[in-house]
Amino acid sequence: MTNLSKLPSVDRLLATPALAALIDVHGRALVTGIVRAALAAARDAVKAGAPLPAETEIIEKVGAGVTAMAQPKLRAVFNLTGTVLHTNLGRAVLPEEAIEAMATAARSACALEYDIASGGRGDRDDIVNELLCELTGAEAATVVNNNAAAVFLLLNTLAQKKEVVVSRGELIEIGGAFRVPDIMQRAGAKLVEVGTTNRTHLKDFAEAITPRTAMLMKIHASNYAIQGFTHAVPENELATLAHEHGLPFVVDLGSGTLTDLDRWGLPHEPTLRETFAAGADLVTFSGDKLLGGPQAGLLVGSKELIARIKKNPLKRALRVGKITLAALEAVLRLYRDPDRLHLRLTALRQLTRPEAEIRAVAERLLPTLQKSLAHLPVTVDIVAVKSQIGSGSLPVDRLPSAGLAVRPQGKKGGVLNRIEAALRGLPKPVIGRIDEGALLLDLRCLNEAEEHEFVAQLSATRGLGA
Ligand SMILES: *Cc1c(COP(=O)(O)O)cnc(C)c1O
Repeated sequence: MTNLSKLPSVDRLLATPALAALIDVHGRALVTGIVRAALAAARDAVKAGAPLPAETEIIEKVGAGVTAMAQPKLRAVFNLTGTVLHTNLGRAVLPEEAIEAMATAARSACALEYDIASGGRGDRDDIVNELLCELTGAEAATVVNNNAAAVFLLLNTLAQKKEVVVSRGELIEIGGAFRVPDIMQRAGAKLVEVGTTNRTHLKDFAEAITPRTAMLMKIHASNYAIQGFTHAVPENELATLAHEHGLPFVVDLGSGTLTDLDRWGLPHEPTLRETFAAGADLVTFSGDKLLGGPQAGLLVGSKELIARIKKNPLKRALRVGKITLAALEAVLRLYRDPDRLHLRLTALRQLTRPEAEIRAVAERLLPTLQKSLAHLPVTVDIVAVKSQIGSGSLPVDRLPSAGLAVRPQGKKGGVLNRIEAALRGLPKPVIGRIDEGALLLDLRCLNEAEEHEFVAQLSATRGLGA
């Protein structure tokens, strides 16, 4: 008991130069809270028989606690996974134009729902409506929180208590919890599956149409591919069939893209224009997949359908905020200059980055990584790797890339897990992947500024995982 009274008081600790400095930066309330917790822990430890901790020891613990508390939860990381649009790492990295627009919208009041010309009330969709129509050929557009919300909203608006005809081969699940049948059910629509997993014919759709049918729907099989003995009904035939019955033809394009990716040597992904040319009445797609923008769900299509969707009270529950709209507008504006899009749109720049340029990054980084792992029984080499587009886009296509491979000398694979964890533990965590006995760092997404950060960070550690 007497020992406990020898612990320093809260006030005494707060007055030490080390903690006074922390208070200057983080404020008295936060530091005081952590000092109290540290003293309580010390008291418990002493009661349990531990020796009385030195004052410096407690101060050190408080310092570590404050540093941990001050760290934001949403931290920047190096995405060296080789997956460009990595859902768990926030998908598309935004271009500077979007970052500036978001900062401007955040810093000041802005005309979100205000018509400056008339001084009257405006519609937040008008911020991107014209651009979306111009770039896709659609008549009207509206924006919600993500593509899952877009699909939900369209089904709830157009197909509540009605039937939606979809091919069995398209009843997809997207990572996380987006399953087409579940969304349909929650939206109040009845799913009518037609055809088989690998083959669906026009007559399957024709036979499924009843007076209760609300629409024919096509869902872009974005995260897998069916190969071999397959048949899917071409979009123009589905559209014609729908229109013959006075029904809308609706497409969930998933990633969707506004330009032909072929021009940059990327695999073909259906564009919005092609989908409308085939006769679609309404198309939904994500803002943060191939489009390269912020998380959002875009609905574009006929004036009549978009107007009905906008009148659904759920639209209000699913709408986006000014920061998202600011970023989306800036990104869409870049599409007006397709010739320079691959230089300005960050996601596209990453996707089209030449292999030779990535290899040059690997060559520059090799000595740094070798040095920081010199004390461990591993080798580090430059390797050819294949990046993935990610987010379910073009699932079977791979992009030739380059990276650094760390391999254990001998059979001790455990060392790789240790290095992987040490890289994750750096101030700006480095996220790679372990594949076939090697820790791979795909350098496609490491831009020039980050390259310097990466080197500085590794140089500052004295031996990674030591
Ligand atoms: C990705 C995807 C979705 C979900 O989009 P989010 O923007 O992630 O909500 C829905 N449908 C398809 C076909 C997709 O590829």
